[in-house]
Amino acid sequence: MPYFLDVVLPIPLERLFTYSISEQEADFLKPGMRVAVPFGKSKIYTALAYNIHSNAPLAYDAKEIYQILDEQPLVNKFQLKHWEWIAQYYMCTLGEVVRSALPSAFLLESETLVLLNKNALVDELGLKDDEFLVYEALQHQTALKIGEISGIVDKKNVLPLVNRLVQKGVVLQKEELYEQYVPKLVRYVKLGEEYHDETKLEELLRNLSRAPKQSQVVLSLFQLQAKSKKPIPIADLEKESGSSRAVIKALIDKSVLEEYHIRTDRVQFGEESKTVETISLNPYQTKALEAINKSFSENKVALLHGVTSSGKTEVYIKLIEQSLEQGKQALYLLPEIALTSQLIGRLRAYFGNKVSVYHSKYSIHERVEVWNNVKDNSDKAQIVIGARSSLYLPFSNLGLVVVDEEHENSFKQFDPAPRYHARDAAIVLTSFHEAHCVLGSATPSIESMDNAKKGKYGYTNIQYRYGDVLMPDITLVDIKEATRKKRMKGHFSETLFNAVAEALEEGEQVILFQNRRGFAPIIECTTCGNVTQCPNCDVSLTYHQHRNQLRCHYCGYHMALQQGCLACGSPTLDKKGFGTEQIQEELKLLFPQANVGRMDLDTTRGKYAYEKIITAFEQQEMDILVGTQMVTKGLDFRNVSLVGIMNADSLLNFPDYRAHERSFQMLTQVAGRAGRTKKRGKVLIQTYNPYHQILQQVTTNNYDKMFEEQFYEREQFKYPPLVRIIKLTLKDKDYNKLNEASQWFASSLQNVLGQQILGPEYPPVARIRRDYLKNILIKTSRAQSISQTKNSIKRIEKSFNAISKYKSVRLVYNVDHI
Ligand code: ADP
Ligand code: ZN
Ligand code: ZN
Repeated sequence: MPYFLDVVLPIPLERLFTYSISEQEADFLKPGMRVAVPFGKSKIYTALAYNIHSNAPLAYDAKEIYQILDEQPLVNKFQLKHWEWIAQYYMCTLGEVVRSALPSAFLLESETLVLLNKNALVDELGLKDDEFLVYEALQHQTALKIGEISGIVDKKNVLPLVNRLVQKGVVLQKEELYEQYVPKLVRYVKLGEEYHDETKLEELLRNLSRAPKQSQVVLSLFQLQAKSKKPIPIADLEKESGSSRAVIKALIDKSVLEEYHIRTDRVQFGEESKTVETISLNPYQTKALEAINKSFSENKVALLHGVTSSGKTEVYIKLIEQSLEQGKQALYLLPEIALTSQLIGRLRAYFGNKVSVYHSKYSIHERVEVWNNVKDNSDKAQIVIGARSSLYLPFSNLGLVVVDEEHENSFKQFDPAPRYHARDAAIVLTSFHEAHCVLGSATPSIESMDNAKKGKYGYTNIQYRYGDVLMPDITLVDIKEATRKKRMKGHFSETLFNAVAEALEEGEQVILFQNRRGFAPIIECTTCGNVTQCPNCDVSLTYHQHRNQLRCHYCGYHMALQQGCLACGSPTLDKKGFGTEQIQEELKLLFPQANVGRMDLDTTRGKYAYEKIITAFEQQEMDILVGTQMVTKGLDFRNVSLVGIMNADSLLNFPDYRAHERSFQMLTQVAGRAGRTKKRGKVLIQTYNPYHQILQQVTTNNYDKMFEEQFYEREQFKYPPLVRIIKLTLKDKDYNKLNEASQWFASSLQNVLGQQILGPEYPPVARIRRDYLKNILIKTSRAQSISQTKNSIKRIEKSFNAISKYKSVRLVYNVDHI
């Protein structure tokens, strides 16, 4: 009897592909194991075994597989089921899901580039002959394709060989130019070398007697040293001596003190880390925990709606503990890796070594390690903290998924496929595992709140901050009025300026939020009105002062700023609007003594950049942090007493049905960074439009009113959650062809599906990377079967693909687009 194997290739193929296998192989193979297979003319891929049978494919002769790569399945049945759901629901292929789900180290293929690992100490004698050949070849050539390695060792299938080399750390994959994870740099001080000498020290103390503040610092250092042999963080010295950073800095400058850094790895759980043995919840938290458990007992998803700093994390910790007690794994999903370091600290302090972290900024090696730990259900990975891709891990015994900040857009993958929403995919995953799911937010998304109101989700709320901390005091500042009365200093109203000055005087920290990076969004010629556009995209370029460049935020195109207007040559270029960079510059002039940091896409690209900024701010090395929405995320800074929003209007005016919901969420979240300890925090929101209903709702913390109004509007204009939206984007370099093709597609949809088709229409940015774009929105009512709608769309796509002149047009589906 012949045997065949269906595999999933990690490429966008509509169907499984079939290979022939021997009887022995058929006996050995199980779904979820990897196999190396030939595909196309000369390519080798790693594919995933799906199904073993004895039916030869009708359309082609099945080729033989090259080799089985695993002894045990790498992917379990829960995962396969979940991935199929993702492919089906989000309208992509299973291959695309596999490609995004598996760490690339598991997916070697002939096109993969490998490089020598320069940091590895290679034991040349320990290498096998074929391994050595590759190692040697890489001494002469920086990178080799796996296909080329085939030639070098004269063997067809070299994936096992390359796998071995990767495992031994001899080679790296090209994509793996990741940073290793984030050591936290802590600053310490000690007495300068010179003063280890007794007489020198006495002399110093005599000299310092005329500088009482400085001598206080030195004496405090002695006291700290007497208490413990451990290194002394600058922050501790500051506290002990009651003096400022400036005094300590003066001593460092004089070499009386010496500053040094120790890397404390956040990933390692060191012996000395303080452990918290118990957490006792306050009555509000206890009530919330009970309500969540009740929802769980009814097999419902639970929505925890707790104001900022109400202690939601502690409630999650209790839930995770319950799950562990039942011997089950827990997953803690975060929207943004920026949040992980603070959270890792909190969870490790409580659960110690049981916590693993998984996200794309980790090296491939680390990701493979976490994958294997989860697969083996090992102790180290009982709790996984991760961004959305951690949903793909091989959980076999999942008990709980926490989706923190569930309202965040970044849970939705935008590009490439699968364009899934991690919150929704998490709920489906927990149903497969018969596990529980809790969603948490201070500002729940309209759709989750709707589900709670309909009784589909359980609901509980916490309305008070933990530890009697008051909600921040939020005030709107009318800048129209202030501008008219000429009471602005740059982009700062007098009110905001004074508040910043006061906070700095008190030694407190300030966060300033401006939802735009760069210096000024637009450079406009005041003579002819010309605004320089990106040659590849339909947007104007943004001015970045630091590099004196104009940059495109869509494709990365950049050019040096010209002296005169590109159109008319006149030198009358004027800056319109403003970004984070300009605020930072203004602050330098307005508050020259303050230390100002900036957190936006431009400053967080480099090595550990995020971590460095957050750590520096935590350790109060910065007085003011200016940032884009990155600073709104659930960070917990203790010393921030003032949050300023430079301009709320650009948020509110965004052309999108969610703009108001999002503005409410963003402003409430950023306001929540203020005053997380005893002193009541202050929030100032600058706007031209202080009577806007959303701003009124933010100041009064009136979520319910916001929900009610937004929900009403969605009903009126038929937007989610009242309907579902599938967005189809068509792309082509040829403008006319795109118009024709999208018209064809839209009319066909209209014929089959009727009224619910909007478009084709150009998106706000209608050209990106030289491609023209057009969107068609397909709205389906909740009563309609979404899978039937999708089938209809797919049938139309088939006819579309059969039209040869539309061949170059690419289609992108985005289900539940946001
Ligand atoms: P949220 O996530 O709701 O914004 P957090 O969980 O960050 O709030 O809690 C705010 C602060 O209160 C944190 O510093 C946290 O450590 C502290 N806190 C909350 N609940 C407790 C508790 N039960 N015991 C001790 N500290 C708590
Ligand atoms: Zn001009
Ligand atoms: Zn561009």
